[in-house]
Amino acid sequence: MNPASWSPAAESQPTRRARPPWRGTGAVAEPDLERATTGARMLLEALGLDLDDESMARTPERMAASLVELITPRPFQLTTFPNDGGYDELIVARSIPVRSLCEHHMLPFVGTAHIGYLPGERILGLSKLARVLEHFSSRPQVQERLTVQVANWLEARLGPVGVGVVIEAEHLCMTLRGVQAPGTTTITSSLLGVLRDDSRTRAEFLALTHHPR
Ligand code: ZN
Repeated sequence: MNPASWSPAAESQPTRRARPPWRGTGAVAEPDLERATTGARMLLEALGLDLDDESMARTPERMAASLVELITPRPFQLTTFPNDGGYDELIVARSIPVRSLCEHHMLPFVGTAHIGYLPGERILGLSKLARVLEHFSSRPQVQERLTVQVANWLEARLGPVGVGVVIEAEHLCMTLRGVQAPGTTTITSSLLGVLRDDSRTRAEFLALTHHPR
């Protein structure tokens, strides 16, 4: 899909307003590295790989540690500040790198995110938009849920007038296997408050997120 021609305005109103009934949150319990290593070894052996080969001897450990790293979010503190200046324009962090694991295949998806909000009483430390994204992407995910979780979290914790999240990502489960369509990206968006309800604000946000990569 050509991002430049994409617009959520093209979606039907009921589709955009519906909140998806996500059953899971994608949250994971404390990982058990030892068992994960044993499991990785079993999986690799079952796949017919020769773990006696010197190069692969420690692959089960590395594989388990890599997966644990990808599903373990770093703790972060939410820092908000009073919006003393009464700033009432969009604040947008553009082209934030995003990487996560597709929970259906446990293969990575990578791309960029644009996150913006129209502040109310509080504003957020600028780096925190990327940290919120990192927090929710550090677990097995589906891109649609990740997008909605970031937007809902910002709405709940910041009380903004509006929130917009757009994520464009390439899913390796789609581009390296299966239909094998390299370069295909998936775009998801979640717009809340005035970014959903006011067409001018929505258009301004989407214009800010469209740019040559
Ligand atoms: Zn997948």
